[in-house]
Amino acid sequence: MTKEFQPAYRKMSITELKRRTRLAVEKLADCTVCAQHCHVNRLEGQLGFCRAGREAVVASYGSHWGEEEVLVGQNGSGTIFFSYCSMSCEFCQNCEISYHGEGRDVTASELADIMLSLQQTGCHNINLVSPSHFVPQILEALVLAVEEGLNLPLVYNTGCYDDLETIKLLDGIVDIYMPDIKFSDDQNGKKYASAPRYFTVAREVVKEMYRQVGDLQKDDRNIARRGLLVRHLVMPEDLAGSEQVVQFLANEISPDTYLHIMKQYYPAHRAGKYPELNRPVYNREHRWAVKKAKEAGLRRILS
Ligand code: SF4
Repeated sequence: MTKEFQPAYRKMSITELKRRTRLAVEKLADCTVCAQHCHVNRLEGQLGFCRAGREAVVASYGSHWGEEEVLVGQNGSGTIFFSYCSMSCEFCQNCEISYHGEGRDVTASELADIMLSLQQTGCHNINLVSPSHFVPQILEALVLAVEEGLNLPLVYNTGCYDDLETIKLLDGIVDIYMPDIKFSDDQNGKKYASAPRYFTVAREVVKEMYRQVGDLQKDDRNIARRGLLVRHLVMPEDLAGSEQVVQFLANEISPDTYLHIMKQYYPAHRAGKYPELNRPVYNREHRWAVKKAKEAGLRRILS
């Protein structure tokens, strides 16, 4: 991929970008922005599962160096951490932000300024962390940022409990989807993350993401430009169902799926309530998951 790369949204007319934004904002009135489908009216101050209101809430933003190398490059990934979450993982490692909602309300104009400031500092992308419940607000900001010259690919960095119709609205807007597939068992999704039908939802969402952007493509500096980058966190006692996750990716997405198999699980938040969650992951458990991914035929594994 050459240096003349343009983010997807710059190839879309501003009229179409505004139309998508209007459709997304309309979803707030009977909220189905994420897969919880609360049907509350966030435009009139009602709160649903996520407790997010009309405005986006941002916990922090900046050039981030802890992401995958293909996102970080030489200048860092321009991360924006959104507060609250569409899920509620009992083992959440960011519960101050996702559960307790630390952060501040930002208007569309302020969020656009944040995006532009990250571009100004030289970041390679705008990395939207936990965006699922704020898609309408992100699009409102994007309209303003595009008019001011934003020219970086968007990374949609999600726990993957997204609404399929919301993801379809992002076709031609998001360049890099980064779903973290947490469970392959719907019951575990419900029990440990308050996410009913988690894998059923995530499968359809990841298929749609792949349909939009395909396998991950990098430029000549090894920086991700467009495509799917999947994360999967190995859990103790194989509660994540890792073998089923990698088989899904190999058989129903692509053997060239760029997959990061992560091992940094530790018991956080309310994990102590569950004996099965209350220990770190052993190296052998992580090695086993990597082995299963290779056996499934996946060829681009980061571990
Ligand atoms: S974004 Fe999701 S969790 Fe939040 S109110 Fe809407 S449907 Fe509910």
